[in-house]
Amino acid sequence: MQCNVLSRVTLTFKPSCVQRLPALTSSAHRRSYSSGQEADVVVIGSGPGGYVAAIKAAQLGMKTVCIEKEPTLGGTCLNVGCIPSKALLNNSHYYHMAHSPDFAKRGIEVSGVKLNLDNLMESKKTAVKALTGGIVTLFKNNKVTLIKGHGKITGPNEVTALQEGGKTEKVKTKNIVIATGSEVTPFPGIEIDEQTIVSSTGALSLSKVPERLIVIGAGVIGLELGSVWGRLGSKVTAVEFLSSIGGAGIDGEVAKTFQRVLAKQGIQFKLGHKVLGAQKQGGVIKVDVESVKDPGKKEQLECEVLLVSVGRRPYTHNLGLEEMGIERDEKGRVPVNSRFQTVIPNIFAIGDCIHGPMLAHKAEDEGIICMEGIAGGPVHIDYNCVPSVIYTHPEVAWVGRSEEDLKKDGIAYKIGKFPFMANSRAKTNDDVDGFVKVLGDKVTDRLLGAHIIGPGAGELIAEACLAMEYGASCEDIARVCHAHPTCSEAFREANLAAYFGKSINFG
Ligand SMILES: Cc1cc2nc3c(=O)[nH]c(=O)nc-3n(C[C@H](O)[C@H](O)[C@H](O)COP(=O)(O)OP(=O)(O)OC[C@H]3O[C@@H](n4cnc5c(N)ncnc54)[C@H](O)[C@@H]3O)c2cc1C
Repeated sequence: MQCNVLSRVTLTFKPSCVQRLPALTSSAHRRSYSSGQEADVVVIGSGPGGYVAAIKAAQLGMKTVCIEKEPTLGGTCLNVGCIPSKALLNNSHYYHMAHSPDFAKRGIEVSGVKLNLDNLMESKKTAVKALTGGIVTLFKNNKVTLIKGHGKITGPNEVTALQEGGKTEKVKTKNIVIATGSEVTPFPGIEIDEQTIVSSTGALSLSKVPERLIVIGAGVIGLELGSVWGRLGSKVTAVEFLSSIGGAGIDGEVAKTFQRVLAKQGIQFKLGHKVLGAQKQGGVIKVDVESVKDPGKKEQLECEVLLVSVGRRPYTHNLGLEEMGIERDEKGRVPVNSRFQTVIPNIFAIGDCIHGPMLAHKAEDEGIICMEGIAGGPVHIDYNCVPSVIYTHPEVAWVGRSEEDLKKDGIAYKIGKFPFMANSRAKTNDDVDGFVKVLGDKVTDRLLGAHIIGPGAGELIAEACLAMEYGASCEDIARVCHAHPTCSEAFREANLAAYFGKSINFG
């Protein structure tokens, strides 16, 4: 389960290089690093983990350096992840609405709707540029020193930035935070050219809408990007090894509804199928698949573009870990303890390169509390309260335990469900696919998990996260006044159903 409470690693520390910092809490203490000085902290990587950590460190009064190897800041998330994918999802949804009979049904008659893919891509680039540029400004405002180059740990208190032309810049530092993120997991035997056989990065920038798109992997990223190209006109087939879609942690019932809704939108699924290989022949890619249950059942599928979307793996190339004696676990992650310390206590790691779900907001939270810990503060994160969102339409979002988790752990639970079909706002907007499902502790009524498929699920889930962080019961939530008409009323009604046995507007 993506959001489970994660077991913590017990680490045996190497000889201590920790130099404790005074607890600094006021921005009045903000100090900047200048070349040749000793920094308080060097952050390697400027993704959502690294850049947020660097800003927090500076706000806590530390002399902070951030080293980034790419020309723009923001890491995977801002450059080739969350932000560009959401720009394409948003605009392809508008296109789909305008293009389908949906608009006419709503009394909006448009004719001659055409896709201008160049402009759609331009709009994505504008969003990325604004946000990556925004980090540069934030760094300046917060006195974070940015050094461009590949950061390598060359001693327990030293990071060397390897720059173009063989130049190097050494930074002495009290603490080091590794925030080097992740990279696309390759598919053995299938070479990605980012033109016709693409990873998520290439799928964010195709120059034309492929007639047929095959996606290997029906997880979050595959479904989001499959949705984008499906809305723009591709015939999309998702091939998935597992027998359900949505990736780790999704509630089984939600996954089934999700598949049904996406199938209605035109995405075809080949679940329980394994991709064996792919070859380019002329302008076509032939993809060999076989049934997982019955390996004798083989099939060849064809497409113009193949998206390989089988996950991501930690990125820690040429970071100096081996030289420092910091070993990686079986998944290539950097082991850390509950204060994000590696085996070398003043070298920390956060984000996609450590345990836990590979999510931008998880990396951000770790960045903040890691720095608070370095400044002498307490460090606590409840991974069970980290939400997951799939930004398709409808959206899917969840936090906490799924029914499958609770069954596995033998926890007695009760279910409260409310369909968007019975929610006044969803009905008014004629956007009724999906439901809210909450899981409460059978004995204490405490909210254990919330699973939403429906309009704005990614926003609605924040209320469930807050409730879970504060240990709210289903009754607590059901007694909170929710504005009418809003989709959030469905969340309230589901909680009412969980604690009282019945909701007002359904059943
Ligand atoms: C298509 C796609 C869509 C996604 N959508 C979402 C979403 O909607 N929501 C969500 O929460 N997550 C999403 N993710 C995942 C999210 O992008 C990552 O979880 C997040 O970026 C991790 O942040 P990070 O700071 O750990 O690492 P990264 O963002 O990967 O940043 C690491 C940075 O470190 C730099 N770096 C690496 N090594 C070095 C070095 N030695 N020296 C200097 N710099 C170095 C890299 O260049 C990079 O800039 C998506 C990912 C993809 C691919």
